[in-house]
Parts: sequence; C-alpha cells; structure tokens
Amino acid sequence: MSVRIGDLAIIAPEPKMMCFLCGKVEETRPYGPNGEEICFTCGLKNEAETVAQMNMRLFGQSREEAERNAANPSRPKMADVRAATMKPN
Ligand SMILES: [Zn+2]
Repeated sequence: MSVRIGDLAIIAPEPKMMCFLCGKVEETRPYGPNGEEICFTCGLKNEAETVAQMNMRLFGQSREEAERNAANPSRPKMADVRAATMKPN
C-alpha cells in the first residue's frame, strides 16, 4: 500500500484489479476522474487529470492546487517516473 510521510510519498506495488476504464486486470491506482481504480495505460490517456488525482490523494492538495501543480511544465512525466522505478527484467 502506498503511504505518505510528510512530503514524501512511498509508492508500493498494489494487487491487480480490474481497470475501471478499459476492463483489463492489471495493477491499478485510484487516479481515475472520480477516484476510480485505473491502470497505468489509461492513466496516460489523460495525464493531467491522473497527476491531479495523485496530487490530491498522495499529497493532500486541494483540487485547485492539484490542477495547478499538474499543469507545471517542469514536473516529471509519468512515463519517465515509471521507467526510473521499474525493476529490470
Ligand atoms: Zn485501463
């Protein structure tokens, strides 16, 4: 389970669930438009919304703060963060 300690968010693997948007059974996160569980691929379809949901859920930001921070062009892109954290196979 992912947890937040102060300003540090620790992202842990989650059990596979059905993606609310595409129906695939994969690791999901509650970053859908209304907090639904969605897969990484669906999260990339609307990255600004996904990042805003992450900012609200992981960092306790208000909707306004979360949208403003998601729109920051200097923030890391989801695909880059995922590539940096995935274990080599
Ligand atoms: Zn999906």
